[in-house]
Amino acid sequence: MPPDKAGIIPRLYPSTGSPVNPMPAVNTLRPSACPGLLRIVQALDGGICRIKLAGGSITADQANAVADAARMYAGGVIEATNRANLQIRGIGAEQDALIARLLAAGLGPNNAAGDDVRNLMLSPSAGIDPQMWFDTRPLATQVLATLQNHARFHQLSAKFAIQLDGGEALAMLEHHHDLWLSAFVREGQTLLAFGLAGCPGLDAPVAAVPLDHGHALVVAVLEAFLDLATPEQTRMRHLPVDNVVSRLSLPLLSAQGFKRPASDALLHIGSYPQTQKNQFYVAAIAPLGRLDSLMLQGAAQLASEYGDGTLRFTPWQGVLLPNIERPGAVTEGLAQLGFLCSTDHPLARMIACTGSSGCGKGLADTKADAVQLAALQPGVEAHLSGCSRSCAAAHTAPVTLLAVSPGHYDLYFRDAAHPGFGRLHARTLSIEAAGALLRARPRSNTDD
Ligand code: SF4
Repeated sequence: MPPDKAGIIPRLYPSTGSPVNPMPAVNTLRPSACPGLLRIVQALDGGICRIKLAGGSITADQANAVADAARMYAGGVIEATNRANLQIRGIGAEQDALIARLLAAGLGPNNAAGDDVRNLMLSPSAGIDPQMWFDTRPLATQVLATLQNHARFHQLSAKFAIQLDGGEALAMLEHHHDLWLSAFVREGQTLLAFGLAGCPGLDAPVAAVPLDHGHALVVAVLEAFLDLATPEQTRMRHLPVDNVVSRLSLPLLSAQGFKRPASDALLHIGSYPQTQKNQFYVAAIAPLGRLDSLMLQGAAQLASEYGDGTLRFTPWQGVLLPNIERPGAVTEGLAQLGFLCSTDHPLARMIACTGSSGCGKGLADTKADAVQLAALQPGVEAHLSGCSRSCAAAHTAPVTLLAVSPGHYDLYFRDAAHPGFGRLHARTLSIEAAGALLRARPRSNTDD
């Protein structure tokens, strides 16, 4: 494989087997509060290991390895994150054995210093979505290889994130990213509009480049960011956009004509036809982002039996099985395992962080309270957060309940004029009171 435009020779992941390079000891990594595959971070309920998946994708064999590791070396709780990754919670003393199991399954980075920077989000329907302008996966592979292999990029924060959007109907367009690229077609040419510190669904692009300059653009933006940022400026939002753009050495085009149409349908739940004839994808949600070893093994079994032996995790904290010919059987199987397969399920639009049952910062048991709220007000699109860090949501939900004490929350409604959680509507509500208030409120006022 030839060197890329940063002069780096990409090395692709093995799908199974040993990692490309042996991993150094965990304590050689730079300090960070974020969990990684090689950095187990302690929480109230034990250690957390975050497994960053390339484009959210994982093979059935790798999913089985995650399930085994969670069962053997942790409490068995697996979380699907809102960045389409997986994490194992409740890890005990055998963390080295857990890490070794995951590395042996090929889930590690190309080199240890590259673990944190594997932050590139794609649509879960990349390469199979009938609405896409192009298949983002080859470009994503190239970008991920550069992020891992170019030593200077290891200076980026573990939270520094990129989105590559191919125009798919199934797309999370509201999660803020440090750099986003989004495809559109102008006069027959596929271009990539891009923006900094925002998202393609809400923000105007800075400019555009031809599709085949996509990798060079990512490299140029990251180099410019690192040239300009002080050690305290860890995210793109900390820098003036114009300063970064003026340092880019490649020619930029106008983004005139770019408009990112969002789909109204809830395409992350249910079964939908792919661009490939007679093929479907089946998507479902892990209730409040959590699954256990049996659910993950069961989903892997369905992927092997009915699909191509791969699964994809989604930013809606769910799973998607691609290339399915019998979607009904897979939907039934996922439902039996405990996944939410219908938008009618009371918890289908509810998200909640770990909360006080597993996080020392949590002021309330958000997951238990979310279940109670869903019973009182089924179908409400709400986010329960144990503190202001908002770990469960990378976007603003129509309704946010921010914990202030056990069982009590401040309630916010999304409002573009009020950044963060939105407009504060009521303070220190019990779950019963929040449910009554939401029930009495016209839906149009809470679902802006
Ligand atoms: S939002 Fe706060 S309470 Fe919830 S998991 Fe994050 S740090 Fe913990």
